[in-house]
Parts: sequence; C-alpha cells; structure tokens
Amino acid sequence: MLKALELNGFKSFADRTRLEFPSGITAVVGPNGSGKSNVVDAIKWVLGSQSAKALRGSEMTDVIFSGSRSRKQANAAEVTLTFDNSARILDVDEEEVHVTRRVLRSGEAEYLLNREVCRLRDIREIFAGIGVTTGAYSIIEQGKVDALLQSSAKERRLIFEEAAGVSRFKLKRQEATRR
Ligand code: ATP
Ligand code: MG
Repeated sequence: MLKALELNGFKSFADRTRLEFPSGITAVVGPNGSGKSNVVDAIKWVLGSQSAKALRGSEMTDVIFSGSRSRKQANAAEVTLTFDNSARILDVDEEEVHVTRRVLRSGEAEYLLNREVCRLRDIREIFAGIGVTTGAYSIIEQGKVDALLQSSAKERRLIFEEAAGVSRFKLKRQEATRR
C-alpha cells in the first residue's frame, strides 16, 4: 500500500530522495550509519510520531539535516508518503493519498494531505484502525518482538483493538465526548 517515500532535508537525506516500493517485499541494505533506520524514522515521523526520542533525537528540529563537512545544514525537513488507495482502505476518496510533514528550523511545522494543509488529527483519523499508526504492529523494530511477547494483557488488548479496527471508534468517541 505504501508506494513511495520522498525525503528532503530529513536526517542524513540532505538532497531530495525518492524511494519506491513496488509490490512484494522491499529490503533496504547498506553499511552501518548509511541511513537505513532514518528511512524508517521518516515513515514514523509522517505518521505522527510526536516524541523526538522515538525518532532518536531530543528536539523536534533534530530531524533536519544538520550539515556535514562539505554541506551546510538544511533549513527544513520534509517527508511525503504516497499510498496506493485504489482499494479505498484509507478514508479519502482518491486513488492515491499523499501525506506530508514539514518542519522548519524556526520550529514551525505543518501537515499536508494531498498537498493541502491539514491537522495532525486529520492524519491520525485516516490511519486509525488500519494498523499503521506509530506504536502499532506495522513497524516491528529491534526489541519489539520481545516487548510484544512480554506485554501485559492490557497492552496486548490495545494491539488487538488496533488490528480489529476498534481503535478508530474509540478515537471518535473520545473526540465526541470532549466537545
Ligand atoms: P545501522 O546499520 O548501524 O543500524 P543505519 O543504516 O540504520 O545504521 P542510521 O541510524 O539510519 O543508520 O543513520 C545514522 C546516520 O544518520 C548517522 O551518520 C548520523 O550522523 C546521520 N544523521 C542522523 N540525524 C541526522 C541529521 N539531523 N543530520 C545529518 N545527519 C544525520
Ligand atoms: Mg539502523
């Protein structure tokens, strides 16, 4: 379903870089420190990872390319995920869904849905219940298998609720009762 990933100024990706994921399995290989985990960080970042620590940094602006001996730092980081939505799995009536997150050195940040500015909540809503939100089971990182096996009944229930599509209704109920 994820068709492409475009990075610009994100972590070690100083230049605009586009990765395509044709159907089947894609493996990303490379020497230590070459940016493999940064690719995963980029996906998590767009899906709304709010904690800088989850992305292995301490400030939200730490994701911006910080410069190297031969290049000056970037002023902004931008990542776009392109999803194939022909099966309308995402609740958006488009064949393709583009989700962009952008952050400037000043700290200013925004999300775009199909190239129009939107709220983080809009992003969360279209992804809720399909198992791709951060913390869900779609990204299994180092140590995650262990953590799943050792999770409490309550934690495990949340994982099943996400998989079963219950969490999207919980999110909606939370919002309805807040008003
Ligand atoms: P390993 O095989 O060890 O897991 P990896 O391919 O996963 O390595 P990453 O952790 O993705 O490597 O990349 C780490 C590199 O990214 C480091 O060289 C680090 O300096 C660089 N990096 C991280 N954040 C930034 C940033 N904001 N600006 C520039 N470079 C960055
Ligand atoms: Mg790594």
